[in-house]
Amino acid sequence: MGQHLPEVVRRHAQQRGTAPAITCEGRTTSYAALDTRTNRLARALLAAAAPGARIGTLTRTRPEAGEVLIACGKAGLIAVPLNWRLAGPELLTVARDAGLSALVTEPAFLEAALALRETLPGLEVLVTGDDPTGRAPSYEAAIAAHPDEDPGGGHDPAAVTLLLYTSGTTGTPKGVQVTLGSLYADEHALAEYRWDADSVALCVMPTFHIAGIGWLSSALSAGAHALMFPEFDPAAVVETMEREHVTHAFFVPSVLHVLTLLPGVADRDFSRLRLIVYGASPVTPPQLRRAMAVFGCGFVQKYGLTETVGSTARLLDHEHDPDGPRQYLLNSTGRPMHGVRVRITDPLTGAELPPGEVGEIQVASRHNTPGYWNRPEATAELFAADGWLRTGDAGRLDEDGYLYVTDRLKDMVITGGENVYPVEVESVLAEHPAVSEVAVIGLPHEKWGEQVTAVVVLRPGAERPAEQELIDFTRGRIASYKKPGRVHFVEAMPLTPSGKILKRALRERFA
Ligand code: ATP
Repeated sequence: MGQHLPEVVRRHAQQRGTAPAITCEGRTTSYAALDTRTNRLARALLAAAAPGARIGTLTRTRPEAGEVLIACGKAGLIAVPLNWRLAGPELLTVARDAGLSALVTEPAFLEAALALRETLPGLEVLVTGDDPTGRAPSYEAAIAAHPDEDPGGGHDPAAVTLLLYTSGTTGTPKGVQVTLGSLYADEHALAEYRWDADSVALCVMPTFHIAGIGWLSSALSAGAHALMFPEFDPAAVVETMEREHVTHAFFVPSVLHVLTLLPGVADRDFSRLRLIVYGASPVTPPQLRRAMAVFGCGFVQKYGLTETVGSTARLLDHEHDPDGPRQYLLNSTGRPMHGVRVRITDPLTGAELPPGEVGEIQVASRHNTPGYWNRPEATAELFAADGWLRTGDAGRLDEDGYLYVTDRLKDMVITGGENVYPVEVESVLAEHPAVSEVAVIGLPHEKWGEQVTAVVVLRPGAERPAEQELIDFTRGRIASYKKPGRVHFVEAMPLTPSGKILKRALRERFA
């Protein structure tokens, strides 16, 4: 019985070896080939690094991210997918923090990888494709040169197999340790996603983020066919979904939103599409309704952090009820996943709060990280005294156990002594017909301490409403102290690489 990703891949290889595992840029790897390649790669990596060593990947959303992850599991090594959008000095900080022994890269990032090697002399760089200058050995040659024998390291569920650096939406990147046991999608999660052996999974989100690597792991656990796309091109994505009969896709809300606005998208044939999983940042009910109307498939929302390996709560398909009596659930991120417990605590005293009251969301789960890489103090802060993980998010539970994420505690606006959770204000403004996207932030204010400020992107072709019109639009819908004092209009939101609105950048810009 396979339990973890390397074992599950082997099981698929034995039972349905010719089934396609990953396709990228016209090249398909079957499950049998994936198993063989990762056996060989595990041996190649062990020739360069001792068990427990960290192996970086500096690639876009490509198969190597999955291959290195599986090979590291087999070899007892730790995969470290790097954010290829980082500048040289940022990459160096992360590579140094992780203490990388080897780095797999693609030709587009070879110069950046070699620059890292200059500063970190022991670093072994492997490059996919050809390096005509001969400065880095070939990834394919390394695989070919080693035997097809699983080194047999991938069995301990508590072993750290992945280090994911948080994107730094709210601070400096930290390496989140992910264990072998927490990455595998168990049978409950697989059933909730309605995976089967014929599933075709679209993988476009970056694999250096839990959303992207978690989705790829889930698809491979299910034995699905993962279609990976190095570049995100919205038009190509919907075209592929139709042409390749994609059954499953994961999008962050900002990407889902962009796709629903594409010209002609409503006329496409998405009849094979079974499920869109979305999450990683808040979504407004109007955005969700639009997406449900355009794609006409099942929807599952996920709430989680890198630190909880993305797996905390989910709003299931049948709980998406846009026109029925439970439409209020579109504001919820659903109930805790199987084996996960969620509680709400008073951020000041730590006392558990009853249903309905807003406080810090805390999580007890086998998926939770054992802590940050080399950061005992940050790890100690992450956990409450009794071991529950502190998410840093504000939220509430209702009487039925549904979780409502109100906001990040750090994004909460305190105005005139009142706490305002931006998501509440954003949900109201998103209902205005001219508004496409909205972010609410707190800006320093002499009288109120902070002033609720809305930043708005208009819908294409919409006439720009007066600032006061948008402010008045919130009247009667939310308490008056929550209404924005100012509205700014922008062409586009600043986004993190994983597609989250970078509120820190908005605060800096409009302060
Ligand atoms: P940082 O670097 O500050 O940790 P990050 O964005 O990189 O930020 P992630 O672990 O990627 O950190 O994101 C986790 C956060 O994303 C959660 O704490 C929560 O605020 C938000 N989030 C995730 N899923 C949802 C959801 N379904 N609804 C609302 N917010 C969500």
